Amino acid sequence: MRTKLAAGNWKMNGLKADLAEVEALVAAHPSPLCDVLLCPPATLISAMAQVAGASLDVGAQDCHMKGSGAHTGDISAAMIADAGGSHAIVGHSERRADHHESDVMVRAKAEAAIEGGLIAVICVGETESQRDAGETLTIIGNQLKGSLPDHATAANTVVAYEPVWAIGTGRTPTLEQIAEVHDFMRNALVKRFGAEGDGMRLLYGGSVKPSNATEIFAVSNVDGALVGGASLKAADFGAIIAAL
Ligand code: 13P
Repeated sequence: MRTKLAAGNWKMNGLKADLAEVEALVAAHPSPLCDVLLCPPATLISAMAQVAGASLDVGAQDCHMKGSGAHTGDISAAMIADAGGSHAIVGHSERRADHHESDVMVRAKAEAAIEGGLIAVICVGETESQRDAGETLTIIGNQLKGSLPDHATAANTVVAYEPVWAIGTGRTPTLEQIAEVHDFMRNALVKRFGAEGDGMRLLYGGSVKPSNATEIFAVSNVDGALVGGASLKAADFGAIIAAL
């Protein structure tokens, strides 16, 4: 039985004053029935972890593949853990696009996160033109193959399916399209990792809101969500948590 996970990605949003939203979330959902994760900008990991207490986990939005060294602006798995983080998102489409991150780099980052004791939340997803060309499953299959380390387990890895065209657009795939990709990912993971692949949580991400969360969470092989915009406000994210 896979424990559901509601994960929030604050992206480049959030100042100290916004931790009031986390305080409100914790007050409203002190012991949620699902796992809850928030990934703020690195500047807020430490302060958010203190506000979060035992009610929710805190993570980073990226993790460098090296442990330390001359990498200006980057942070390592050990730094994330030291700040109170337990997870790291890697391979988000915004980083694949803005920072030219390849599957090889994403896999190295996931390996570094896992070796540093973090849970890697590895993102995959097709662009609109790839979907229109009928390439979705090929793209997702290749990203899974290239981005997941060989020692990925149900305990150290979460996979997030985020169609690029659904991120921040208010558009979502149909429930059938989500099911098609999630079933495909489950089969691919079971084929490669056996029982561990069956235990990995598969999150859907892309314009998840309180109004569509319930129907998306009912789709086969959807074990939760990776939420962007709607994770910034306690009321919205709380409603999504409640829908799981
Ligand atoms: P939105 O929920 O804002 O569409 O963002 C999704 C996302 O990219 C989460 O990582």
